[in-house]
Amino acid sequence: MTGIPCWLNEPPEEQPQMTVEELEAELVEILRGMPYEKYLETSHWKHKRKMALERARYRCQVCNSNMYLNVHHRTYENLGNEQLEDLTVLCRDCHSLYHHQGEII
Ligand SMILES: [Zn+2]
Ligand SMILES: [Zn+2]
Repeated sequence: MTGIPCWLNEPPEEQPQMTVEELEAELVEILRGMPYEKYLETSHWKHKRKMALERARYRCQVCNSNMYLNVHHRTYENLGNEQLEDLTVLCRDCHSLYHHQGEII
């Protein structure tokens, strides 16, 4: 027979005034509102970028190079809340090619 776990006796944690969804929505607003260069410096983007790179195994998804990798946004629609499918890992050459052609893959 074990006693009542001590955490049961602790007062309930103070509820934040905003729900997680609201906080996330606010964060997305802030991320979308900042200049793109600033956005690329946020820990949010660094985390997304790393996930995209890991998913692509640090290889260009077009030519398989592992040099000068960029994480390209296929769409800016979900900026601040990117899905992994929104991001493509490209080497510098493939990346500039896509941008020069004005095409989004
Ligand atoms: Zn490439
Ligand atoms: Zn790009």
